[in-house]
Amino acid sequence: MGRKTLHTKVYRVTEEEKNRVLNEAAQIIRRGGLLAIPTETVYGLGANALDKEAVRKIFEAKGRPQDNPLLIHIPDASWLEIYCEKIPPLAYRLAEAFWPGPLTMILKCKSCIPYETTGGLETVGVRCPDNAVTAEIIRLAGVPVAAPSANRSGHPSCTSAETVLDDFAGRIEGVVDDGPCRVGVESTILDMTEYPPKLLRPGGLSLEDIRRIIPETEMDAGICRQLREGEQPKAPGMKYRHYAPKAPVTAVMGGGRESAEYIRTHIKAGEGVICYEEYQDMFSGYACASLGREGCPQEHAQRVFDVLRSFDKTDAAHIWTQCPGEEGLDLAVSNRIKKAAGFHIVEI
Ligand code: AMP
Ligand code: MG
Repeated sequence: MGRKTLHTKVYRVTEEEKNRVLNEAAQIIRRGGLLAIPTETVYGLGANALDKEAVRKIFEAKGRPQDNPLLIHIPDASWLEIYCEKIPPLAYRLAEAFWPGPLTMILKCKSCIPYETTGGLETVGVRCPDNAVTAEIIRLAGVPVAAPSANRSGHPSCTSAETVLDDFAGRIEGVVDDGPCRVGVESTILDMTEYPPKLLRPGGLSLEDIRRIIPETEMDAGICRQLREGEQPKAPGMKYRHYAPKAPVTAVMGGGRESAEYIRTHIKAGEGVICYEEYQDMFSGYACASLGREGCPQEHAQRVFDVLRSFDKTDAAHIWTQCPGEEGLDLAVSNRIKKAAGFHIVEI
């Protein structure tokens, strides 16, 4: 991991200073520096996707394994054909329906995308973030921006500039602060290089929404269960332990009331709990964080990473968490919780 040698500047985009701030931020990208950028999903750790040296810095700052490729960010679908080839017409249909928005499409890439960005694959994940500030920075930079989630490798992703600074102050040139992220979980990754397309990572766009346009869309193994020995996920990053706070996590699946009761009877002194707002009263005396109201997937998505991260500032020895089901946005939330728990799951 890189040493803390930089002064990390926090950029806030105000009406009066908009042009100056956006240009300065775009210059960091053009010069080959690292800039954390806001998106609707989570904050990204951005660099010029066409510049090998800049991309290497991302891996170094995150402590990310080299075989875990980066996604590239573009400001609109007209950039697709510059960096990708053999683009199926369905990719344009999805872009029309969901871009800008939390959908990443895996497509065959052109040779201008360096090995460092793709991790040596012939494909690249492309996304068009729904954040006006970031879209403008990319346009001004004039290059696609490679940006994995702005968290140290293995940690929960960051949904605010403050948590980005917890992980990267002194290690990157700047962070553009555009407040908390609206969606809160990363983009949905869809492999468009084969038909039917395959969901590789559930995220901010639901599978149900994608199936409204492509009903045949399939789901990769490993989204809802631990992979067996010898099984490989198609998104290289999905094989790593991920989203994990420092303390071990146990996820409890089942009805809200029943899972809360289960946790209450098993929790020990010094342990923590993540539960729906309705059940917080049951855990007075314990470190407790709310996932939002039961049955409100948007609240769960917005909060899941923050609540996981919040326990790193406590000395909870173990974290119990309620875990939502698999419908809509909850598929992404439950996937992140199960991975944070290393698939240590109790089903009741
Ligand atoms: P993050 O870097 O946190 O935004 O996550 C990006 C995810 O996309 C990781 O799990 C990567 O392994 C995955 N990914 C990136 N590029 C590709 C690709 N070309 N094919 C499949 N998965 C990819
Ligand atoms: Mg990530």
